[in-house]
Amino acid sequence: MIPSTIKTWQMTVPGTLTKTEIPVPQLQPGEALVEVKGCGVCHTDLSYFYMGVRTEQPPPLSLGHEISGVVVAGDAKLVGKEVIIPAVLPCNKCELCKTGRGNRCLAQKMPGNSMGIYGGFSSHIPVPSADLCIVGNRGSVPLEYLSVIADAVTTPYQAARRARLQAGDRVIVIGAAGGVGSFMTQVAKGMGAAAVIGIDINDEKLEFMKGYGADFTINPRGKTAKEVKEAFKAFCKEQGLPSNYGWKIFEVTGTKPGQELALSLLSFTGTLVVVGYGTDETSYMLSKLMAFDAELIGTWGCPPEFYPQVLEMCLDGRIKLGPFVETRPMSQIEQVFDEAHHGKLKRRVILTPDF
Ligand SMILES: [Zn+2]
Ligand SMILES: [Zn+2]
Repeated sequence: MIPSTIKTWQMTVPGTLTKTEIPVPQLQPGEALVEVKGCGVCHTDLSYFYMGVRTEQPPPLSLGHEISGVVVAGDAKLVGKEVIIPAVLPCNKCELCKTGRGNRCLAQKMPGNSMGIYGGFSSHIPVPSADLCIVGNRGSVPLEYLSVIADAVTTPYQAARRARLQAGDRVIVIGAAGGVGSFMTQVAKGMGAAAVIGIDINDEKLEFMKGYGADFTINPRGKTAKEVKEAFKAFCKEQGLPSNYGWKIFEVTGTKPGQELALSLLSFTGTLVVVGYGTDETSYMLSKLMAFDAELIGTWGCPPEFYPQVLEMCLDGRIKLGPFVETRPMSQIEQVFDEAHHGKLKRRVILTPDF
């Protein structure tokens, strides 16, 4: 049903949320109106809200970019379909888009950030319809759970693609128990990695990851890089794996200690993919890359064309969402932001509209 207004939680200024109603815009050709069923709370939302990172569209605006829902208006072929809205919507016209790099299209639209697009902490959201990921038969997986595919799961998938991850590969995930890192761990295992080492400073969560893709874990807290490396080498020796070549490392923390550790573990023919974001500077003797014949790769978002593959992994059980998410009514958004900001959440929270 097409609503009379869109109800939404807007960030009026950073640090303040207000519930408000806005008119439903006239849909343009190629647009759809999606009734939001779930919107995941991401660290990026918190960085806009608490840490002074600027949104492209100045406030007031609605945040939220991990969205699943049902199309209620627009293209007749889509109405009634359950969909995931990609967190990065490429323009599909520019050279980057035409050469397979649409995830980093410079004219891309990000819900809850870019000019001219709404955010998902809302009852409804109008979006370009070309790149919507249609859900189809989702078995017993709730539609709201699938919202986190939009960023938390597809970003690791694209990171794995960037590393040309294939069955039999050896992987290290730094930040393996975090919101995105836990999915990075599952994605790597789900794509057939032969060994996945999870590194994180949260013992409890790290232990949990042993049931979800981590073959071996290391907590680097209180250890020097050398000691972490010793633990890594001991595992390799025990498993009969080489420790000095061919590892694909995913750095998901974006922190200086995480990046330094990643660089110290990088070795011959290795690959380091930078998945996490932070503003610290890390220094490294770049010539080592030359001597190692190694690669250092950045990654951003995920092209919408790969969403169906990630969805399939989430529906066939290679990636488990249930143990990593929890739903809360959207009316608790202020409390959830506060809890997330203070590191009190054990799982990724998906807000479900209750206006
Ligand atoms: Zn995000
Ligand atoms: Zn483009």
